[in-house]
Amino acid sequence: MDSEQLYVEDSYLRGFDATVVRAGPKFVVLDRTAFYPEGGGQPTDLGILEAGGKEYNVVKVMKRGPQIFHYLDGDIPEGSEVHGVIDWDRRLGFMRLHSGEHLLTGLFESAGSGPKVFSSFNQLDFQPSDLDEETIQSVRRRFDEIADIDIPIRIYYTDRDQLDVGDDARKQSFLEKMPPDVERLRMVEIGEYALTFCMGTHVKSTGEIGRLKGLRLEPKKKRRKIVYFEL
Ligand SMILES: [Zn+2]
Repeated sequence: MDSEQLYVEDSYLRGFDATVVRAGPKFVVLDRTAFYPEGGGQPTDLGILEAGGKEYNVVKVMKRGPQIFHYLDGDIPEGSEVHGVIDWDRRLGFMRLHSGEHLLTGLFESAGSGPKVFSSFNQLDFQPSDLDEETIQSVRRRFDEIADIDIPIRIYYTDRDQLDVGDDARKQSFLEKMPPDVERLRMVEIGEYALTFCMGTHVKSTGEIGRLKGLRLEPKKKRRKIVYFEL
C-alpha cells in the first residue's frame, strides 16, 4: 500500500492521524504521513508517534518506492492507530532555508550566473561561471527587497511533456532520472524570480524566508564559483 504524502498538499500540517500498514523491528509504514522523508536536498523530519498511550521517537524517515518508512526507538504493531507530531521548529527552519535556496538560485540565474551544479542550505555552486562581487551585492539587495515585500510562493502542477527545461543540464538529468509513470510535475513559483519543479516543503511567502544574514563569493578553479549564504 502506498503512503499518502500529506506534506505535499500541506507543508504546514504539524499533526495527523494514521494507521500502521506495515511494521518491523523499530520501523513502521503508515497509510498517510506528514513526516517529510529525506530527499531533494532536504533532511528527514523528526518528531513523535503516539500509539496505545505511549510515545515513540521518530529518528529518521525515508521513502522507499511508494512507501514511507518511519524509523523509531521502539516497536508499534501493524494495524495500530497512531497520532504523529512533527518537530516543527526543525521543519520550519528547513522550509525557510530551502525556499531561500530557490529564490537565490532564481536571482543568480537571471543575473547570468551560469548553470548551478550543486546546492545546499548554505551554498550554491555555479560552473562555468563569471560571477563577480558586484553581482553578489545586487542579488543580495534584490533578495532582501523581495523578502520585505512578501511575495506568495505558489505551488501548481504541470504536465511533464509541457515542461521546457531549456539547456539546463541539471534539470535535464533530474527529469531523465524521474520514473516514467510520473506525468505531472509539481512546480514551485516565486513571483517572476524563481520557477522550478520540486517535491520539497516550502514556506508560504518570501516574508517568511526573511532577509539574508550573509552572502559571500568564493572563486574556485575551472570557472567554478561558490556562493555561501546565511539566512
Ligand atoms: Zn523546493
